[in-house]
Amino acid sequence: MRWRSIAAARRVLAQEKGAVIKDWGGRLSVALCYPNSYYVGMSNLAMHTLYRLFNQRGDVVCERIFSGLGRRERENDPPVSIESQRPLSDFDVIAFSVSYELDYFNLVEMLHRAGIPTLARERDADWPLVLVGGPAPSANPAPLAPICDALFIGEVEERLPDLLDVLTTRGATREDILATLATQPGLYVPALANEGTRVTRQWVRDLDSYPTHSVVFTSHTEFGDMFLLEISRGCGRGCRFCLAGYAYRPPRTRHLDTLLESARDGLTHRKRIGLVGAAVSDHPAIDRLAVTLRGMGAGLGVSSLRADSVSEVFLRCLAEGDTRTLTLAPEVGSGRLRRIINKNIPEDKVIRAVRLAAGFRFEAVKLYFIVGLPGESDEDIDEITALVRKITRGFPGLVKVNITPFVPKPGTPFQWAAMAPADVLEARIERLKRALASAQVEVTPESVPWARVQGVLARGDQHVGEALAQITSISLRAWNAALRKAGLTEEEYLVERPLGAPLPWQVVETGVETEYLIQEWRAALDSKGSPECLPGVCETCGVCRAVSVTERER
Ligand code: SF4
Repeated sequence: MRWRSIAAARRVLAQEKGAVIKDWGGRLSVALCYPNSYYVGMSNLAMHTLYRLFNQRGDVVCERIFSGLGRRERENDPPVSIESQRPLSDFDVIAFSVSYELDYFNLVEMLHRAGIPTLARERDADWPLVLVGGPAPSANPAPLAPICDALFIGEVEERLPDLLDVLTTRGATREDILATLATQPGLYVPALANEGTRVTRQWVRDLDSYPTHSVVFTSHTEFGDMFLLEISRGCGRGCRFCLAGYAYRPPRTRHLDTLLESARDGLTHRKRIGLVGAAVSDHPAIDRLAVTLRGMGAGLGVSSLRADSVSEVFLRCLAEGDTRTLTLAPEVGSGRLRRIINKNIPEDKVIRAVRLAAGFRFEAVKLYFIVGLPGESDEDIDEITALVRKITRGFPGLVKVNITPFVPKPGTPFQWAAMAPADVLEARIERLKRALASAQVEVTPESVPWARVQGVLARGDQHVGEALAQITSISLRAWNAALRKAGLTEEEYLVERPLGAPLPWQVVETGVETEYLIQEWRAALDSKGSPECLPGVCETCGVCRAVSVTERER
């Protein structure tokens, strides 16, 4: 019943500060959609940034829609916008911002609930245009290609004005708009694409010109007590499994002055600043930033840190700034696997960071580990246990251990790797849980069946998208039934891919050269590490060499 969604959306709106209410008359209406709960979506900075950039345009009205209001991932009622409680089908354009593959189910389900055909070929000019962007579809747009009219590959900030100029072209037909979009850098229009189509990943050259921070404030979200501030984008460490490390190359940072200016404004809304980035502690001015923010009376929060770059100064500022949990991602326990994944954080650095945290009275340490990596053995799993035990000996508080099954990601050196069989993953997780069972250690494994679903979506092709579009209720049973009906198997997408074989995501030109990825994959198989990237100095992976190419497109 739509009235329930309307009432819920009005309650949410009443608890916000910063929402933009615009008259629709004569404007392009854009539904900015996050295919997960309001609670999760409102802590996603892409949503805040897109919302600000869309509404900066006088000829655009942008309203937010989530697959679930509150903490619920999805509702039964038709989705409506927060600002005017209009249904999804009322909008000219539906723009999905998608970070994770498993949210593809919510995306399809939102269209279903709105009564909008899920396949692009079944929608004509009477239906909204469906666009999508975000790290997951940018890495591999194929699974969403049958569902979306257009996909934006990469970072959209610099390209958004041109994109909106096309969408607001008066009198243009749907076909005209799609044909023009297909000529724009970063835009992939599946219906107009062919075998040879290639789309160049877009990225923002000057982050200081495009602030990324919270713009709408509510306490009903994961980091509701914080002003979230992106301090850097990408990471140059070259971990071979990591999508963020490759999807956001080259690594870039915002200048200290730019960050302090945003923080000053942020402190008029919140008492704590949440520092966001794939490698926050790698920011060259992180200590000065933290000390200055503390001087401004700010509390501090942070996503995960690298144990080999976190300083005592920074940890002290975090502790004084009301951060209670130190989050680290050692990923593995053995030196051999550290070289294979190319995340060479020595054990003593991890232990040093934990000891410092103990000294600053952090209440908990959260550790991220991956199981199922290429070349992994049971002994490697026992090395994780050994590392965690050393950590518990040096830390009096709670040790939280998060275990994630390895999912091969497109555009990384591990894009060819097989995903480990379910029974191997379950056995390794069980081995860790048994070995770490103690009062001080809280073990949280992620679901193996859903990780394998993520694996299929991450490296899937358009056939997977066709199956996805048929799903009306979200469950493993419905997913497996849809795969069977489409004559597909999970296994065919999770096996090792032969080098040189065509890949569903080859439509994307990331700038990282395939030869470099092959070299890195081979280095992993030889248990060899490789140096991190040095923007402005090296052209190793090709991205910085590709810069000049993209410049010519401007
Ligand atoms: S060319 Fe070098 S500096 Fe640039 S992204 Fe690649 S590895 Fe990093």
